[in-house]
Amino acid sequence: MFRRMRERRERDRIYEEQMHRALAEHDRISREIPLSRSASTAAQSPSVEEEFLPRELWAHTREDLAGMMIRYDQPLVIEGEVRECPQCGSYRPWVVYITGEDVWLRCPGGHDTYEPRLDAVWFNRNSGPVRDLHASLEDGIKAVGL
Ligand SMILES: [Zn+2]
Repeated sequence: MFRRMRERRERDRIYEEQMHRALAEHDRISREIPLSRSASTAAQSPSVEEEFLPRELWAHTREDLAGMMIRYDQPLVIEGEVRECPQCGSYRPWVVYITGEDVWLRCPGGHDTYEPRLDAVWFNRNSGPVRDLHASLEDGIKAVGL
């Protein structure tokens, strides 16, 4: 058990390290290749501008979004315990949402609970690509059916 936990922590550490490196590389490339459509940029390197998709076709990044959410139907086990809503005792389904680095849980009763034991690494591991955009948290929660 401890070995598995150690291995999992090591995998998480490696994942975070790779994400950090990828983000640093992304930042470096972003600085080297300005994507703004200023006249001087276009004049200096029109071929670079032409190689990129129009901005409206770019995939959304975390920075574009106020938060992300997933529906989590199975019981949420954290540190070996099934997580229950502290207000109503529900244990599933959840909407798990992240704003900045904070992970929150919404139970079927509509109670929001901050969950400090979950983080962006956990969220990324359990979520897929962004499929839908919603104007507000409440719109998103309705859309996932909770
Ligand atoms: Zn509740």
